[in-house]
Amino acid sequence: MAVKYPVSRPWLAGQELAYVTETINDGWISSQGPYVRRFEEEFARYNGIAHGVACSSGTTALTLALRALGVGPGDEVVVPEFTMIATAWAVTYTGATPVFVDCGDDLNIDVSRIEEKITSRTKVIMPVHIYGRRCDMDAVMNLAYEYNLRVVEDSAEAHGVRPVADIACYSLFANKIITSGEGGICLTDDPRLAEQMAHLRAMAFTKDHSFLHKKLAYNFRMTSMQAAVALAQTERLDEILAARREIEKRYDAGLADIPQITLMPARDVLWMYDLRAERREELREFLAAEGIETRLFFKPMSRQPGYFDPRWPSLNASRFSEDGFYLPTYTGLTEDDQAYIVGRVRAFYEAN
Ligand SMILES: *Cc1c(COP(=O)(O)O)cnc(C)c1O
Repeated sequence: MAVKYPVSRPWLAGQELAYVTETINDGWISSQGPYVRRFEEEFARYNGIAHGVACSSGTTALTLALRALGVGPGDEVVVPEFTMIATAWAVTYTGATPVFVDCGDDLNIDVSRIEEKITSRTKVIMPVHIYGRRCDMDAVMNLAYEYNLRVVEDSAEAHGVRPVADIACYSLFANKIITSGEGGICLTDDPRLAEQMAHLRAMAFTKDHSFLHKKLAYNFRMTSMQAAVALAQTERLDEILAARREIEKRYDAGLADIPQITLMPARDVLWMYDLRAERREELREFLAAEGIETRLFFKPMSRQPGYFDPRWPSLNASRFSEDGFYLPTYTGLTEDDQAYIVGRVRAFYEAN
């Protein structure tokens, strides 16, 4: 059956079209157009942070953050075992080495196990707010203070969670809480870090000569067309988060009494509705046949070919990745849609 309920669908019902139309009419479509600055200011203001640096993706946001903090070859960065691979790749792109820490029961990095991974080479701790659950940032910031480390927050799945790290990085990919199609943004209170990220984002042009470049930089710029969409989405972020909160409540209520389903801890903001299920693969196939798309949990980093570790240190991450998945989670999902989806999950276990 065709997909009737995709896992994700953007909600572009605000000023998105009007703003994009304006960029087209004015001809200011590149990164030099006015919407990039407007989006940066609005997103930073929303989060109570001084500076925003928009860029081409969440992955490039993380890369810019690490480069601005001076991370490079020989350095180590502590990252979660359970995350999307871009968190680890950003470290690898800089020439540094990611050091993985297993997750706790909330899927976030187990902060009690970070300290044992800190060495003289460690420069940065990079926690991720997985599926919209805020990581214990007090614990991370205390460790960073004690060991003189910097902190980059991977907030790709947690727009609306208040940032506290040196730099917080967001993705604006189409399946994230807010989107610009493709895109990302870094937030920081430090004007020098903001300036450095903006410099690295745009090919490190210098004042001395139009085409003198003193360091290896990137073209990670966001276009004004993307920023136009991102700004319109930011204006509605509270509304989007509130709608997502209702989706979470309805799934929780509908699924709670199914014995083969294990609900996950509450979320600070809802990105994807994650859960664990007995006979997950059969259930997913059954749901797919009913037009309900689902997606597996992340595959742990130590199981990825690029980071394969035969010691297999990530016991929790592996346990969760074996029976975890997520259900369709987007703001257009109605009560009826959710009742149907929950009903099909129930029907699977009643029939099998
Ligand atoms: C989506 C995501 C990214 C990457 O963002 P892109 O915009 O796709 O590059 C990084 N980290 C996490 C945790 C993500 O979920």
